Amino acid sequence: MRKVVLVSLDAFFIADTEHPDPNGFLTRMMREGTFCRRVETIFPALTYPIHVTMVTGCDPDKTGVGQNQPPQPDVPKAERVWYWERKHVQVPTLFEAVKKNGGQNCSILWPVNCRNRSVRWCFPEVHPLKNENAVLKALRYGSPIYLLRGEKHFGHLRRGIQEPYLSDYAAALAADTIRKHRPDFTALHLIDLDEARHHYGTFSREALNAIRRNDRWLADLHRAITETPGMKDALLIAVSDHGQEDIRETVNLTEKLRQYGLDKALYVQSNGMSAYFFPANSQAGSVCPEKLFPPELLEKMKISRLYYREDLNRMHAVQGPLFAAEAAEGVVFSDALDEKKREAATHGFGPGRDGDLCLFSVFGKGIKHGMEIPYMKMRDVGPTIAGLMGISLPQADGTDRSEAFLT
Ligand SMILES: [Zn+2]
Repeated sequence: MRKVVLVSLDAFFIADTEHPDPNGFLTRMMREGTFCRRVETIFPALTYPIHVTMVTGCDPDKTGVGQNQPPQPDVPKAERVWYWERKHVQVPTLFEAVKKNGGQNCSILWPVNCRNRSVRWCFPEVHPLKNENAVLKALRYGSPIYLLRGEKHFGHLRRGIQEPYLSDYAAALAADTIRKHRPDFTALHLIDLDEARHHYGTFSREALNAIRRNDRWLADLHRAITETPGMKDALLIAVSDHGQEDIRETVNLTEKLRQYGLDKALYVQSNGMSAYFFPANSQAGSVCPEKLFPPELLEKMKISRLYYREDLNRMHAVQGPLFAAEAAEGVVFSDALDEKKREAATHGFGPGRDGDLCLFSVFGKGIKHGMEIPYMKMRDVGPTIAGLMGISLPQADGTDRSEAFLT
């Protein structure tokens, strides 16, 4: 099995490839490797479901993970649980495929992958809710001994879950794990750029600085690969999940449903720049979105379009919602009445935006130099990585495109 180090650069998208830093490591990866910068992401463009699609080769209608969180309309925002655990994913992942082929996995902040028995070294993507202790929770969801050792060596880099310190820590831990344990599959999720965009804006100076830090972490990982005996044939793969768009206005849809007397029939879950509508009770299954939402109401609620259930099926969206709404440009939807946070930019939008076009860049021995693949789907990422490793993901719906990458 060919070893792979997979690095997800959260919120990196096609616009970031247009004026690349000539000295950046990613530029080198693209120049000396094979890449696609038009990997079309899924609906809705949200981190957790996309990362699940990447490692399963299936869309949310198969994986069962269609949002970051299960719908929890009556729970205050800060107390809502997320899809943290492997058990939420309804199809096999690359981690199981690697283990089945006798390999070992390392997962660092990879979403929806806590308590995965196929992962030997797990730094869990989980966060504490009200009255929970962050350290104890991480120990319960990840690999305790690995975490304690990591904390001993790199604890000085971390400041809770604050960025860019957490990504700095995660990259150092990944490089160290590569040197010490030579995992067959290392999956690392770097959130720094996503956070910078949310807080300061899509093309803010802070976001550009985060892109530079991503370059540095990729270079560090590449050095760990080349300096470790038994890792020299490993491939370094950079992937991304979605872009972002700047926010001008927040619309609270839960408040709007109440205001227009629709809360008896429906409840809403925000996906950021889109939203899912669910039946509030068993009779609501028969609601007709066109009748509930005449054009003037759509305008008042800043909805640019509705996706009916047939549309959602065609987009391979998750089962459950009756229909979805796309926000007007610059609008973000909120669903929690207690929500205070205001952001500069976000994602979660539907198809047809620049922010849907993501990166898949493969670098290493036996990979074509300077080759660009014009288009891929997010569900092709998993089977293509499997193909590059010489294993397979038989239940994937995506296509194994590995031949296009190999010399
Ligand atoms: Zn993301």
